[in-house]
Amino acid sequence: MGDKVIRKEEFQDFLKALKRTHEVFVPVREDGFHSLKPLTGEEKVDLNFINTRLSPKSLLLPQSERMLVFTMDEKAEDAHILKEAPKDYPLKVIVGMRPCDAMALRLVDVNFDNAEFKDPWWVKRLESMTLVGLGCSQPCSTCFCTSVNCGPFNENGLDVLLFDLGESFLAKTLTEKGVELLKVAGVEKDADSGLKKRACELKTKAEKKVSSHVPTDKLKEKDVNDLFNASFWDDAAFACINCGTCTFLCPTCWCFDIQDEVTKKRGDRIRNWDSCMFPLFTLHASGHNPRAEKVQRVRQRFMHKLKYYVDKYSNGVACVGCGRCVRYCPVNIDIRDVFRFMNDL
Ligand code: SF4
Ligand code: SF4
Repeated sequence: MGDKVIRKEEFQDFLKALKRTHEVFVPVREDGFHSLKPLTGEEKVDLNFINTRLSPKSLLLPQSERMLVFTMDEKAEDAHILKEAPKDYPLKVIVGMRPCDAMALRLVDVNFDNAEFKDPWWVKRLESMTLVGLGCSQPCSTCFCTSVNCGPFNENGLDVLLFDLGESFLAKTLTEKGVELLKVAGVEKDADSGLKKRACELKTKAEKKVSSHVPTDKLKEKDVNDLFNASFWDDAAFACINCGTCTFLCPTCWCFDIQDEVTKKRGDRIRNWDSCMFPLFTLHASGHNPRAEKVQRVRQRFMHKLKYYVDKYSNGVACVGCGRCVRYCPVNIDIRDVFRFMNDL
């Protein structure tokens, strides 16, 4: 591992070089928001952003994905037999993702790839993907990453981390995949001690700029039933309109629904993102709904992130403090308040 230099005027050539071997995704500004888009050469890469509105999770867990296919044609030998839908796993690289989003993929990974269960598509996509992060030197007022084991220059989950030093990027390689990627792109120049020192200072300064903090120290020791039955849930849920924005934007929300769709005799088993904030999410075929009330659904979202996940995986909270849910909730429900309610109960 080591620290390399990519001069800004060579950055487009760096991307072009990656494109020879990888599908490259870069931040692009469109209609006032940034999103990660495939690099075609037509778009303008824009690294001047707080974060993309949508996280990169859809590149690993697509919003809608065909899992299995089947035929309903009784004459076919394989009638009603489920077969895996054909998929391919081209090499991909995301350049310019925020460190919090890389950390989020790590948190989600323990759910999709563990000793009891492996989601083959998630696993293969993650294996074929290289993650090049861009440290965040101007954190937003709603970011609280430093409170949740993360930070504006957090390295966990990334293969390379870029430090924007004005005229050039310092590219810190963090994994063998990262080393290989820079080799493929012809990035060879080592960073000198002056650049390394500036990168260190940039990181320290950025961490100090994160002005929003949440308490997490007592979450693990709290009794799950005390939290579940706490009186603050009515207040926390009061304004929620169950739009699901928070869960769709959140880089650590992974819930999906599975449906069969049949067109003529051809069938597809598809999984689609779903949200614990929607009443239908838990509706049973019998008509019973264990989370029929809004307050139960809001409680589920926060309990999952800040208590069930914490207890099950001993991996911290299922939140990286990206602040998306705070920024985009139409009724200003703020997870930072819920951290305080739960931790200080
Ligand atoms: S974004 Fe806000 S209003 Fe919408 S479901 Fe989430 S908490 Fe409720
Ligand atoms: S819960 Fe909110 S702040 Fe935490 S990772 Fe999800 S969107 Fe970001």
